[in-house]
Amino acid sequence: MFTRLRHFTGMRGIATVPSYVIMQPTTLCNLDCAYCYLPLRAADRRMTLAVAEAAAATVNRWAGRAERFSVVWHGGEPLAAGREHLAALMAPFTGVEHHVQTNATLIDDAWCDFLLEHDVHIGLSIDGPRSATAGRVLRSGREAYDRIVAGIDTLRGRGIPFAVLVVVSDPGPGMAAPLYEFLADLGPTVIGVNLEEQEGANQRSNAHDPARVRAFWAELTGAWRRDPRVEVREVEWALRFAGAALVGEQDDLLPRRHDPIPTIAYDGGVVLLSPELAGFTSDRYGDFTAGSVCDTPLDEILTAAAAHPTGWLAEYLTGIEACRATCAYFGFCGGAHAANRYFEHGRFDTTMTRHCHNSRISLLEGVLDHARAR
Ligand code: SF4
Repeated sequence: MFTRLRHFTGMRGIATVPSYVIMQPTTLCNLDCAYCYLPLRAADRRMTLAVAEAAAATVNRWAGRAERFSVVWHGGEPLAAGREHLAALMAPFTGVEHHVQTNATLIDDAWCDFLLEHDVHIGLSIDGPRSATAGRVLRSGREAYDRIVAGIDTLRGRGIPFAVLVVVSDPGPGMAAPLYEFLADLGPTVIGVNLEEQEGANQRSNAHDPARVRAFWAELTGAWRRDPRVEVREVEWALRFAGAALVGEQDDLLPRRHDPIPTIAYDGGVVLLSPELAGFTSDRYGDFTAGSVCDTPLDEILTAAAAHPTGWLAEYLTGIEACRATCAYFGFCGGAHAANRYFEHGRFDTTMTRHCHNSRISLLEGVLDHARAR
């Protein structure tokens, strides 16, 4: 265990102003990846302009007061909404930084023109070389790899920077170093590494041997240390935490409150904290929304949820306090991951999930294993 239990003071309650919002321009995705959590990815339910305008009314005020404020377009596949519709949805926003999280398969020169014109920051998904990306498939079942690489080549040809997000389904030793080399060779600005999660529509198990997962993270850290040309988001965060812990400043790293990260669904429903819950309903928690921008301003929805959290949000905050009281990794993790709790345990006031073991505990211990071995 990394550290003795100590009292961490961050992550108490929910902030009323987020650092970014997520917008769902369409539920549709042109891919059908093996591990996808999205429930409505085969349906083209598009956000209306009225929803975008209602969200922008609050977002523009927040952006006016912030140094940076991001609007992240995240579907489905946001480019599946088409350039004309996406441009119309973006139009009401002012003073924001637009981002898209895309599967890259639709990117061509016309999309590059659009991305440049709207100054859009790009995050794209690829899981490594062809064999590692085999789970990303078109609706026909054909592998999407060639189309993803073609999209990346087009971006590179136009000099458009991009971040990459990789999903690793079966982490273990021997795979992290070649994966890092492959991803770094693509030339991204940053690499994010997600271990596959059992959530939403994806019911595949994410139970792994902790020693193998830890070895994966240690190897990834080693690969990055040997050739640190691209930041690896997870390794950077673990090293930052370890460095702060060495000088007794680890309590300063977590935000004081949870970033509400409002996800505005295509129909205006607002899901806080966890975009993965959008589109789901449960007998116990309803549709997980805190309100709709169609009838209530977004800032009012957030203020009410922060002041009087009810339903699953209240249960989640109880779970956070249980994490604070019992988990030695709270200062590193912050106890987030609402969707993992729900989809693994069926409720929110629990603590340890397999996601915790894979992507928090084994991550931190793996990074430290690498440091200890040097
Ligand atoms: S979510 Fe998991 S790893 Fe994070 S603090 Fe809670 S129990 Fe610990």
